[in-house]
This record gives sequence, C-alpha cells and structure tokens, in this order.
Amino acid sequence: MASHTASQRYLSTRGGSYGLSFEEVVLKGLASDGGLFIPEEIPCLPPDWTSRWRNLEFTELALEIFSLYVSPVEIPLTDLKSLIRRSYGAFRAPDVTPLVTLSETENLHLLELFHGPTFAFKDVALQLLGNLFEYFLVRRNEGRVGKKRHHLTVIGATSGDTGSAAIYGLRGKKDVSVFILHPKGRVSSIQEAQMTSVLDTNVHNLAVEGTFDDCQDMVKALFNDPIVSKTHNLAAVNSINWARILAQTTYYVHAYFSLLRSVPTFSPDNSKLRVVVPSGNFGDVLAGYFVKRMGLPIEKLVIATNENDILHRFWQSGYYEKKPVHSRTMEDGPLAEGVKETLSPAMDILVSSNFERLLWFLAYEVYGSNSDVHASRNTAGEKVRAWLSDLKAHGGFSVDPTILDAARRDFESERVSDAEILTTIKHFYHSTPSYIADPHTAVGMTASLRSISRNPPPISHHISLATAHPAKFANAVMLALEGEEKFVFEEMVPVELRGLEEKERRVRDVREGVGWEGLRKIVEEMVEVEGNSSVD
Ligand SMILES: *Cc1c(COP(=O)(O)O)cnc(C)c1O
Repeated sequence: MASHTASQRYLSTRGGSYGLSFEEVVLKGLASDGGLFIPEEIPCLPPDWTSRWRNLEFTELALEIFSLYVSPVEIPLTDLKSLIRRSYGAFRAPDVTPLVTLSETENLHLLELFHGPTFAFKDVALQLLGNLFEYFLVRRNEGRVGKKRHHLTVIGATSGDTGSAAIYGLRGKKDVSVFILHPKGRVSSIQEAQMTSVLDTNVHNLAVEGTFDDCQDMVKALFNDPIVSKTHNLAAVNSINWARILAQTTYYVHAYFSLLRSVPTFSPDNSKLRVVVPSGNFGDVLAGYFVKRMGLPIEKLVIATNENDILHRFWQSGYYEKKPVHSRTMEDGPLAEGVKETLSPAMDILVSSNFERLLWFLAYEVYGSNSDVHASRNTAGEKVRAWLSDLKAHGGFSVDPTILDAARRDFESERVSDAEILTTIKHFYHSTPSYIADPHTAVGMTASLRSISRNPPPISHHISLATAHPAKFANAVMLALEGEEKFVFEEMVPVELRGLEEKERRVRDVREGVGWEGLRKIVEEMVEVEGNSSVD
C-alpha cells in the first residue's frame, strides 16, 4: 500500500479552504466559498501496478485506488475494505462492471456500468457514498444517545437517475434521512416507481408541482438558509460530492485490465486506448481524467454530449457559455436559453458542475509556477473564481488558447443529436452480436463510431461507457425500434423491474407555490417524526 500519500488533503477550487480531510469533504459536499473539493495532489499509480493489480477483483482494485486518496489514519484499511465490499455486493454482475466487445473488427468495447440496484451508472458512486455517510456517523455517534446523536439530512433534486440511485444508496441507513424532490409527472414511470416504492422510514419522496429546475431552486435555497443549517446537518448527493468522483475511478482501471486479459489484439505497448463517455455534469469523464493523470495509459477521453452541448462548444471554441448568442433567434423561440429536453434526459444540463474541477487543474498547470506550489494554488483558485463569476454575471467566459490547448491534450468532444441516438440504437440492434442500447449509451456509441473513423483499428481500441439499462428509458428505445418485427420490449425488462409499477408507494405531494420555506417546514416535520419513531 502506498504510504507516501498517507496525508492526502483536500482544497476548494475557489481558494477558500485548504488542508481538509476526506471525511470533511465527503460530509460537506460543497466548500463554503462555493467551490468544489479536489485532492491537493493527484497520486501516481504505484510503479508495479501493471503486475500487482492485473488480476485483482473490482473490490480489491477499488481498495488499492482509494488508499491513494484516503489516509488509513482516517479510515483504517480493514474498515475501508468492508465499506467497499458492502457497496458492490448489491451488483448483479460478478465483475461489477463487465466489458463487452461490440465489434471485433472495429475494436469497439462497451463498459457496462448499469448492473447496480437502480440499473444506472450512478449506483457505482452512490452505493459507496451511502456507506461512507453511515460509517462517519456511526463513528461520531459512538456512545451518544437520543437528541445528542449526529444526524444527517440529505436533500436532493432529481430528474430521475440521481434520485433513485441516492435512495437505494441511503435506504435504511442509521442517522440519515433522505429527501428527494422530483418534478411530479415529469420523470419516467419506471423511475418514479423505483423511487416511491422504497418504503424505508428514512426515505422521503416529494413530488413537486413544477419542473426539475423548480425542484433544484428549492433545494439550493434551503442549503443557503441560515436557520435550517443551524438545526440540521444538510448533505448533498448531487454529482459534486468528491466521493462520487473517486468511486468512479475504479471502473476505468478495471476496464483496462479486462481489455488486457480478454482481448488478444490489445497490446499495452502498441495499442492506443480511447475512452468515450456520455457526459452531462462532467462527473463520469472527470474520474477518467484523474486516472489518466495517475498514469493509466488512455490516449484520449472523448466527451460525448447530447444537444445540450456546452462542453462540446467549449472544446471547439474555448468559450464556455450557457447559450451561444447567435442561436438566440426567433426560431428557437423566446425560451431558447433553457435546457433542451432530449431523449437522453440524464444528460440534459445547461452547465456542467464538475467542469470547475478540470478548470482548476488547467489553471494550475498553465498559470502556476514550477517552484512554488502554494502560489500556484492561489493563482488557480483566483482564476477559477474569476471564470465562475463571469459565468454567473454574463452567462459565460472564454479562456486563453494555452488553456484550451491543455484541455485538448487529454480530451476531445462530440455532439450527438436525438435523431442520431435513434439511428445508433437501430444500428446496434441489427449488428452481430445484436445489442440494445439505452439512449445515453447510444450518445457515446455514436461518438465512438466517429472517433473510430478518425482513429481506426488495428492501432486504436475504443471503450464506450454504457451508463444505463435500456429498460429504464423505454420511450427512446421504443421510438428507435418500433416496427422491428422481432422486438418485444417486455422481453428486455429485467425481472427486478417487472411489476414495479404495481407496488405500494409512499410519496408526498408538494403543491406549487409552497416555496423553499414550505419545503423547510416539511423537512423539519418529517425528521422530527422519524426521530420519535426510532427505538433507541
Ligand atoms: C448521470 C448520467 C449521465 C451523465 O453523467 P455525468 O457524470 O453527469 O457526466 C449519463 N448517463 C446516465 C444514464 C446518467 O444517469
């Protein structure tokens, strides 16, 4: 185990805090200066990693990687090991994240990340986050009883995937209450059933009359409220939590070894590996950036966006803007500045929250000095603060060509339309072997095909990340495959998801106009009731 990183500490991307522990950043989620937490150093893979890690199982690999980021003084190795085992025990695939070859002639492989409890890749992170929350609370609560116990109130807004993964990661956890707001009637029926059929007393589903943005605004306002933050320890589960990024690093390394073990044409010395990631909030692909910086030989990370393409536009132009000015035409209608609803809703974003983390590393590299780490960190923090304040005030900012060049060294980008998603689902359905992809996965596959045409076999291998099971996104899959004689949707639905819609549900409606103060009342009430009903 690497001992040189025993003192791994964390800092905020906006320069407001340094020297934080892993526990502090996991429980806080967001820094007090509004920034995101990142490790002060990105560790290197140990010199003998290719031989020593080669045949490790997923959980063993996770332990090796996390040990580079979490000091054993904070979480003893045996505890970390048991946390990891419990987190991935609920996955249905023995490999946790299996690699499937889609096309031998094109060297195209799919990394399936959807074998967790809610059938989407967010389980990989949220199963771990739930166990970490519980672990820290149990430790803080040793010997404490009743009202003296630390209690965590997790609040989040969801358009579908995050909410269900968070609920399954936190259900039944001691000293944690979880509130998930979803826009009533605007999440897919399977997602709604997944969330509301969880009957554990610590899980509270709130169906809000309004849009996802309304839900998110209420949650944000609550987090900013000084009253509630005095009485409750609020925690966030959205994709800015550092533990989520860390959890996602494992499958990149695991996939690399799967490729080495099972694909004879892949050679560590002669092949080039490109990894394609369907992206929204930039969390998944950021984990890829970390492992690449640690030394995993990935030639390029390809960011695949849907029509909400702020990331793609940045990599094209160096401008990071909510909406390019030239598209604000009459054709787009007066609401052209909002999020576009696409067939891949989990990637429908206006800005990508985790992008701020990459910006910090780019600024550190480009504007920092080689000799003075502290000055470089300050400079990076100042730069990030300036960019983000321009984003807030003017809806966007541009970066120097040197920053864009640095970003292009590790990443490329592709934008994929709804029409292309449908074509790609159809294409792979008719391929041999036949594969039914969900619409998010199809965004990545479309980008992969383009990337392959520029970087063909035999030298290049592509791993495309599969982020959800197709049964979760019936609407897009049906659109793509309706009329196919042999296609029967029901046959594709896994047993775990069958009959879910008929199960008993628990959900509380939140009427329009209740506002965040109304939400505060609901949260206070329900946490109180929960506290009284627990028997210790
Ligand atoms: C969340 C999600 C994504 C996007 O991941 P980011 O980390 O936000 O970039 C892609 N596909 C699915 C199915 C998701 O749930």
